[in-house]
Amino acid sequence: MRIETAKAIIRQHQEAAPVHVIPLAEQLGVPVFYVDWPEDVSGMIKRADDEHYAIYVNENHHSHRRRFTMAHECAHYILHRDAIGDGIYDDALYRSGLPNKMEYEANRMAADILMPHHLISEALDNGLDSIQSLAELFQVSQSAMSIRMGVPYES
Ligand SMILES: [Zn+2]
Repeated sequence: MRIETAKAIIRQHQEAAPVHVIPLAEQLGVPVFYVDWPEDVSGMIKRADDEHYAIYVNENHHSHRRRFTMAHECAHYILHRDAIGDGIYDDALYRSGLPNKMEYEANRMAADILMPHHLISEALDNGLDSIQSLAELFQVSQSAMSIRMGVPYES
């Protein structure tokens, strides 16, 4: 799948917040499965057969975290398929053994998937202006939304 095709599919799933990541991943051709993992593993993308990959997500993480992990693994699938070989694990800090640049790109695309600028503008136009209310609408963590909005995060 070409990156342009993947981006077109992503846009189809960004008509309203929150973006539903599982149907998006499925349309990209990567089904999502939950796994009972220890806290320090976020997710995995793994080759299922010659042509297909699947995403595995830590079922013990908060739903907002799981959504970010799914989007991050989708990004690896779209951007880094040649580098992931038979599969990679992402730890709690989204380190997988891939170069940091690729993790940065995957985090960046995950944010673009879950918090597209056009839907954030719409939410702001509708009067939502706190990190908390935006995070709730987009079903992301307040820290992820803070980073997206370029404001310091205070937990
Ligand atoms: Zn990663």
